This record gives sequence, C-alpha cells and structure tokens, in this order.
Amino acid sequence: ALSEKLKKTLKTLRGESKLTEAHINAAMTDIRIALLEADVNYGVVKQFVERVREKALGQEVWQALSPAQQVVKIVFDEMVELLGGGAASDLAFTSQTPNVILMVGLQGSGKTTSTGKLARFLAQQRKRHPLLVSVDVYRPAARDQLSVIGKAIGIPVYEDPTTDDPFKLARAAYREAQLRGFDTLLVDTAGRLHIDDELMVELAQLKAELHPVETLFVADAMIGQDAVRSATEFHERIGLTGVILSKMDGDARGGAALSIRSMTGQPIKFVGVGEKYDALEPFYPDRIAQRILGMGDVLSLIEKVQQEVDEAEALRLQQRMLENRFTLEDYRAQLRQVGKLGSLDKLLGMLPDGLLPGLNLRLTPQQTQMMQRKLKETEAIINSMTKQEREDHTLLAASASRRRRVARGSGTSVRQVEELLKEFSIMRRMMQQMTRGGLFGGLGGLFG
Ligand code: GDP
Ligand code: MG
Repeated sequence: ALSEKLKKTLKTLRGESKLTEAHINAAMTDIRIALLEADVNYGVVKQFVERVREKALGQEVWQALSPAQQVVKIVFDEMVELLGGGAASDLAFTSQTPNVILMVGLQGSGKTTSTGKLARFLAQQRKRHPLLVSVDVYRPAARDQLSVIGKAIGIPVYEDPTTDDPFKLARAAYREAQLRGFDTLLVDTAGRLHIDDELMVELAQLKAELHPVETLFVADAMIGQDAVRSATEFHERIGLTGVILSKMDGDARGGAALSIRSMTGQPIKFVGVGEKYDALEPFYPDRIAQRILGMGDVLSLIEKVQQEVDEAEALRLQQRMLENRFTLEDYRAQLRQVGKLGSLDKLLGMLPDGLLPGLNLRLTPQQTQMMQRKLKETEAIINSMTKQEREDHTLLAASASRRRRVARGSGTSVRQVEELLKEFSIMRRMMQQMTRGGLFGGLGGLFG
C-alpha cells in the first residue's frame, strides 16, 4: 500500500538533519512507485512527482520539521492543490429555475443512489426544492428504484409509466418542475457497462435540450483506472462540470480522485461514503490527500506546528543548543513554544506510531495532567530566578540560599528546584550529543 511504502521512505529519512537533493530524489522514486501501485495514472504521477521535486529542491530548510516531515508536507500540499485546492466546490445554481442537474456514469457506478443522496443534501443543506426524474428506460426496475428512494427521503419523483421515451420524460419533468415551483430538477440517466455510442449520443442530446447547470459524472472509486478512462471519455463526449466519487467507504484509497481531477480538469464535488441516503459528503481535497497518503493525523500536527511555532525563535534556540549556550532562559522560551501547541496529549495523539522515535508514546490522562503541571511549575520556577541565574545555572547549583529563594518565590519546594536544575544539566548534555536538532529534538529532554 502507498502508506507502507511512504513510511519506509520516511524511515530512511529519519535521523537526517538536512533535506538534500539525494534525499529528495530517493523519496521521489519511492513516491512515484507508490502512486503507480495505488493506481494513479502514469502521466499524472510523472507530472506530480516533477512538481514535488521542484518544490522540495527550492524549499528552505524548515528547522521545526524533520526532513521526513518536510517531504510529507510538500507531497501533501501538492496533492491538495492537484485535487482542487481548499474547500469543496459548490454547485453552479442560477436564478433561472428550474436548475437541471444531469447525473451520468456507467451502470452500477451509483448514479441513482447519488441522485437521491444529492437531492436530500440540497433540500436539507441548501434549502432547495428538488424534483427527481429517471430517464433510464432500458432496465426494467430502474425507474422504480428512484421512486423507492424518493419516498424514503421524502422528495417527489416525476413518473410516467406510459412512455419509454427518455426525452419525453425529461421534458415533461421539466415542465412539471416549472409549473409546481421546484427550483431543481435532478435527472438520473441510464448507464451502460461500457461506453457505447448510442448512449453518448442520447446523453449529449439530453444535455443540449435541458441546459443543465451541472453535468455530474458519478465514478465508482473502487474501479480505479477504469473510472478514470470512462470519466475522460464522458468528458470528451458530453462535457462534464464535476464528479461525484462514490463508494469511498470501501477500501479505495482515492487514487482515482487524483487521476480523474487531473485528467478531466473537472472538480470532484461530492464523495459517496455508504449505501444510506445521508452518506454523501462535500469533497475536501485535504481529507482525500490524507487518505491517499495514509498518514493519519501527522499532517494536522505539521500544520499546527507551522502555525504556532515561531520559526525564528526555534532557529535561535537550536543555534544556542548547537553552540552549547543554551540557558534556563532559553529553556523557558522553549517551554512556551511547547505550551503554544496546546494540550500535550492531543499533540502526542496525533503522531502515528513509529514516525518520530522517542515521541511515539501514549500517555494516560493522569500522565498528561502531570506533564502539564510540570510544564507550568517549571516555568514558574524559572520565572522566580534572577536574570543572572537564568543566564548561568551554575549560580543556583552553587548556592542553597538561592535555591530556597527561588522555591519560595515560585510556590514550589527546594527539591523541585533541584530536580529542575538536574534535568536541565542532563538536557544540555544530551543536546550536545544530538545531531538532529529542531523543536522535537530539544523536546526529547522533557520526556527523558
Ligand atoms: P447506477 O446503476 O449507477 O444507478 O448505480 P446504483 O445507484 O443503482 O448503485 C449501484 C450499487 O452501488 C447499489 O447497490 C448501491 O447501494 C451501491 N452504492 C452506491 N453508492 C454507494 C456508496 O457511496 N457506497 C456504497 N458502499 N455503496 C454504494
Ligand atoms: Mg441507476
């Protein structure tokens, strides 16, 4: 699986302190193979990897993140962009009602189900008044299926069992919507197992007559590359405005999303995540990218680090560590950075197992509370020191009366002050031994 491959790649990057061209090339080779294995289209992969490589090479070294995390971040950002950027795209409704939405796709892709789901979504979330119609006159029970769904979700379905003409049905439903004030008409069309001319001509004609605001291609995420091929062909023959990716509740990693978006240039607008009628979600590129990469919540962690950590400060602290000039003052600054990241248990919970050695521990609520308290106490102790003492911790080591004063001032005990001094000395020693610095490297001391 992609995630396994990527994890392996990241493992080789772990422990490196700088992102070099050699790292990037090695990582890109693996990512390329992994994406191909995940059934992403060859051309798409090639283009993707090239763009990631360029970005990675031009990237300044981000000290708060390890090289492995940097690669993940770049790959992730690029993937989100390729999937269409920020939020899910909306539907292009106009004031000229009824607005028609044409649902197209291969047989079994989930058109009829998605028609119901979308109608329900629009009624509930967008306060629209949809009417449904099925023009799938070829399969015997196809129209009944939509009627059953309509009843289940409480949305009217236009029916006329006396005709087998898809155009007549569509026109009559359109008139019905106009007359009765439905602002949206969802047209569920016939599918075939394979693309054939007859169907394409019919769909193109329906489109020409109905002037839909949206022509949505329903793609079965489970069939991977085949879905990509048919999406491309549907787009060439009838012109799509968007895609609904169905059956994403299955094992599909969503590699098809990447290819379809990239090959057709059309946005994925919704994702089907189950057989129930409420199992439709707007498409969020970042969620799918996360799924394709299979990186758990590590990306949320990276985002958070980038938002919250003052990089200049992190750099400064790291420099001081390297030069062995790290003081209690710096220690306090570092603790404040950690404090900004929010609750520690959440932070640690975001890390997937094995990605960051030494940090992949799970804490009990009691341990977390203890750690939070300790962070606060440590800061209080350092606050009670004089500037001189903070700059030179040996002053405190040498004087019991100074330690007593600091303990009193911070509302802690002399023993706690002494413990902190001991930990700080150990940390300084550890830092010197560490080649891999950065925020997390420095944090190691806290957990040691
Ligand atoms: P159509 O031939 O394109 O109209 O496809 P249908 O809407 O009849 O769906 C075919 C099958 O796929 C049905 O059994 C649906 O319940 C199922 N299906 C559709 N969408 C989803 C989905 O998002 N998740 C799952 N698990 N099943 C789905
Ligand atoms: Mg159907």
